[in-house]
Amino acid sequence: MLKHPKRAMIVSCPVKMDDGTVKVFTGCRVQHNDSRGPFKGGIRYHPDVTLDEVTALAMWMTWKCAVVDIPYGGAKGGVCCNPKEMSRNELERLTRRYTTLIVDLIGPYRDVPAPDVYTDEQVMAWIMDTYSIFKGYSVPESVTGKPIILGGFKQREEATSRGVAFCIREAIKHLGMTAKKSTVAVQGFGSVGWNAARILHDEGYRVVAVSDSKGGIYNPGGIDPYKVFEHKSRKGSVIGYADSKQVTNEELLELPCDILVPAALENQITRDNAANIKAKIVAEAANGPTTPEADRILNEKGVFIIPDILDNSGGVTASYFEWVQNLTRERWTEEEANSRLEGIMVKAFNEVYETSKKRQADMRTAALILGVGRV
Ligand code: GLU
Repeated sequence: MLKHPKRAMIVSCPVKMDDGTVKVFTGCRVQHNDSRGPFKGGIRYHPDVTLDEVTALAMWMTWKCAVVDIPYGGAKGGVCCNPKEMSRNELERLTRRYTTLIVDLIGPYRDVPAPDVYTDEQVMAWIMDTYSIFKGYSVPESVTGKPIILGGFKQREEATSRGVAFCIREAIKHLGMTAKKSTVAVQGFGSVGWNAARILHDEGYRVVAVSDSKGGIYNPGGIDPYKVFEHKSRKGSVIGYADSKQVTNEELLELPCDILVPAALENQITRDNAANIKAKIVAEAANGPTTPEADRILNEKGVFIIPDILDNSGGVTASYFEWVQNLTRERWTEEEANSRLEGIMVKAFNEVYETSKKRQADMRTAALILGVGRV
């Protein structure tokens, strides 16, 4: 049962483009397993989206929700498109058509979508509105990662990165390292990468490199992520930031640093570059950044890997908080939400760590032992 998704749906979304032509985009929603609760998982808009990729990501969501022990199954959706080349109106029409096509599959107790690569709170608002039109009343609990005004949750946006920082904090304790003396390289400067760089910088780590899809920047003396963010907002990329050397995304992974945070797409650390990775800790903020061959090489080198299904589970945990608040029509305070997130992440990290010691397994295998075991 666990090897196969329970349900997979492929949809064709005809969208009227701004120039009057009609383009047909292919999308899908894959529901892997719901034995622990409603299917849960993001929707990504990316030119490389395939059914295979989305199916793998749906399965990861099942294990991820089980590792942090929240009452959800796993799902994922995607539309093969390039949102960077589409207008806001085109994206809205695409989102509403895609939602219409999967509307029978989703719902607060059935399957709850959320943001993923290149989808944001605005996309979630369109999904919620389209779903609500079908129901005839407003259903905020149908989607997470919404704008705050629609029942969204203030900390959802940064929660994945907060979770990453909690995991790194726990890992450095076990490895006898300190924040002040540790350098960090972050691949990806989207929502997860930027927030991770910012939070780690605030906690005293020295961020030495960051990158986006166009390339990266490196300064062994440290980079201020806030200033890089400002630069990227003006210029469209981190590239060209003052006081830094330009590097490629591939070079960033191999830079001298203590902690490497891949926060972009999957399959970045491969058998070709794994041996050159110098970091002591790889904190997988993205889903699937390390291929199985690379995983073996890193483990042989003694690199401490915080696997994706643990490391980035702060995002779905905050989604769970948002959903619970929507269902109960309650609002938690910021302190309550933060301390619950920390509690869940630290517990999950330590359960995985204990399992890895007890079963003499690496952290990824230990996370899977826990996750698969619970399902
Ligand atoms: N897309 C995020 C992930 O891969 C969040 C999913 C969610 O919140 O449902 O974990």
